[in-house]
Amino acid sequence: MRGARRRDRTNTNGQHVDPDPNAEAYMTFMKKHCCYDAIPTSCKLVIFDTSLQVKKAFFALLANGLRAAPLWDNKLQRFVGMLTITDFINILHRYYRSPMVQIYELEEHKIETWRGDSFQNVYLQYHDQCLISISPDASLFDAVYSLLKHKIHRLPVIDPDSGNVLHILTHKRILKFLYLFGASIPKPRFLHMKMKDAGIGTFTDIATVPQTATVYDALSVFVDRRVSALPVVDENGRVVALYSRFDVINLAAQKTYNNLSMSMQEAVRRRQCFVEGVIKCYPDETLETVIDRIVKAEVHRLVLVDRNDVVRGIISLSDLLQAIVLSPAGIDALL
Ligand code: ADP
Ligand code: ADP
Ligand code: AMP
Repeated sequence: MRGARRRDRTNTNGQHVDPDPNAEAYMTFMKKHCCYDAIPTSCKLVIFDTSLQVKKAFFALLANGLRAAPLWDNKLQRFVGMLTITDFINILHRYYRSPMVQIYELEEHKIETWRGDSFQNVYLQYHDQCLISISPDASLFDAVYSLLKHKIHRLPVIDPDSGNVLHILTHKRILKFLYLFGASIPKPRFLHMKMKDAGIGTFTDIATVPQTATVYDALSVFVDRRVSALPVVDENGRVVALYSRFDVINLAAQKTYNNLSMSMQEAVRRRQCFVEGVIKCYPDETLETVIDRIVKAEVHRLVLVDRNDVVRGIISLSDLLQAIVLSPAGIDALL
């Protein structure tokens, strides 16, 4: 079972319960609202020509406080993909040799050279040069489905008439929209489920990184497991920090990407992070509490821990949107 899909008429104690009339409230809300509704009235958007040097592109993301940009191919006269921090991670991982050797490919390559690299298939998820996008008229339900199905975190909204990118939708934006504008809709009963009973999240084979590991080790886990963040743990498996893909851009900001043998402890200490400590949740907390916490903290996931702070699971926005929006429609996009 993945979260709210449970529809049988008995509870975990075997007692009969009436079906919840509000079980599909969030799914219906998402079907009724379109992507345009969730676009802010004003926001910054940067588009990169694929002939731009990769290093300049990542510094431009940094300078503008952005996490991703659509890629425009001038020869093909169309968008051919996205540049995200995952791509920065992939480039570092592919070309890094040692602290003594400059990463020539990062300094010199153009975006199109990197994307044309024959090794890119190992790294790039969408190597057939396509951009996954959505129309402003499409429903938010479709946007959630697309993000989860394609396992991406950035979904450009493109106006079909002008071909212009209007905004880049994310899980965060969509859940926040539901949180703010869906506040008055009747609450589904599943919000009161405890996390230990809800089955929402990942609880086995959690990718973590020891604080003594190097940054290169962490990048290897990002590449091999394609997870969006790693709980940093001590020798007892207790979480001491959270290192997300987003944090890797600090290596560009601090120009330390030539020293990937730095320890995670050091990388965490040096990074610029707007979140205090680790945002966690516990098995006895309800789904409602977890949604409230994740929206307010503006993070992409919570680390589920036991009372000793040992990592037991990851509850990400993908898991939550799957459970409250897609599962009530009988769809499992995370499979
Ligand atoms: P991040 O979490 O670092 O922002 P994503 O998980 O969205 O990155 O990206 C994973 C990979 O998928 C990257 O190589 C990125 O370029 C690619 N990608 C992301 N969004 C799209 C999209 N809308 N269309 C095509 N490729 C995408
Ligand atoms: P994105 O907006 O790209 O999805 P993330 O939410 O993964 O970004 O990360 C944004 C910042 O929040 C990063 O500095 C990251 O370390 C931090 N962060 C994310 N999740 C947590 C968490 N559960 N606890 C503490 N910090 C977190
Ligand atoms: P995300 O990429 O965070 O949107 O999550 C996609 C899926 O990967 C979700 O089911 C998460 O629970 C799972 N996930 C995220 N981070 C980890 C991790 N460090 N280890 C294992 N699974 C994870």
